[in-house]
Amino acid sequence: MRFPLSLLCSMSFYMLRRKLFCRGKFPLVLMLEPLHACNLHCSGCGRIREYSDTISKRLSVVECIDSVVDAGAPIVSICGGEPLIYPEIVELVDRVIRLGKHIYLCTNGQLLADKLAEFTALAQRHHLVRKRMYWNVHVDGMSQTHDAIVEKSGAFDAAIKGITAAKQAGFFVYTNTTLYKQTTINELIELAKLFERLRVDGMMIAPGYGYDAVKEEGTDNNFFLTRNEIYETFREVRAKLSKFRITATPVFLDFLCGERKLPCAAWANPTRNVKGWKAPCYLITDKHYDSYKDFLQLTDWSKIGYGNDPRCEQCMMHCGYEPAAVLFANRLTDLIRLARWQIQ
Ligand code: SF4
Ligand code: SF4
Repeated sequence: MRFPLSLLCSMSFYMLRRKLFCRGKFPLVLMLEPLHACNLHCSGCGRIREYSDTISKRLSVVECIDSVVDAGAPIVSICGGEPLIYPEIVELVDRVIRLGKHIYLCTNGQLLADKLAEFTALAQRHHLVRKRMYWNVHVDGMSQTHDAIVEKSGAFDAAIKGITAAKQAGFFVYTNTTLYKQTTINELIELAKLFERLRVDGMMIAPGYGYDAVKEEGTDNNFFLTRNEIYETFREVRAKLSKFRITATPVFLDFLCGERKLPCAAWANPTRNVKGWKAPCYLITDKHYDSYKDFLQLTDWSKIGYGNDPRCEQCMMHCGYEPAAVLFANRLTDLIRLARWQIQ
């Protein structure tokens, strides 16, 4: 199975309920950023640049929990910054799981091996932790490439050590790889083989996006893929990595290969951070709202997405289009492909 059955069941029942009883827009995954501070300084990271003025601020656990309840999404992606340097991270995970949610705990993996004992202790007190919390470790290539992108020698080895330890401790572990112009298919295959040996549960591959916050004066930012380059790259990814556990759904892969059009559904993947509810999406910022309701109702959704906003022209990111690939996969053939893909 590509994703745990409990996650699949929660998501399916939630979507069915929302589609039957509330016709409007609804969230699938809450991106919760309790802090933006990080122990790395990656070339492609918008967060540490855009939020440099609030980098020392944090949401309290109570604010985090209120946001989880406010959104109501069945999945909470705890990201940042680096969530493992959030002092109350174990308490936060515990409380989010007690609310019946599933967690992607997104990390650069540098502290994963060291912090694992605390999560193992939590899992011993609370049996749902191993079932409902999934590590999501950021690895952008093999050693040389990854260390260059995150600008730290030894970062790859630390992340791999963390992944190995988390698998040995019985946790679900997924990985997250961003593709840049320099990424080669051979290196991706090498990485996928390594993850297979480590028994990684799934590998997420996403195209990098050159949003304004990433662009620093004096750099040409020539490492982000354009829309046409994304099509070309993902056709090759689909052809050559199909035997590995890639987590992009079939419809989302069709979209990344340029074989299907999808609208941006950024409202289904809201971001909550120290400044509020970030609108319109995880990548670009016009405003931060005080509540999820305001974020949803006061953002003009007709003005975002490909063809509507110049900032969206090259964007094919999962935060806008992966929920769309789930929400708009209504054809019988889509559902059959999705079911087959899930059990592979
Ligand atoms: S690890 Fe993540 S949050 Fe930290 S600098 Fe890199 S991309 Fe940004
Ligand atoms: S297409 Fe959607 S996810 Fe991408 S930048 Fe625009 S609003 Fe954000």
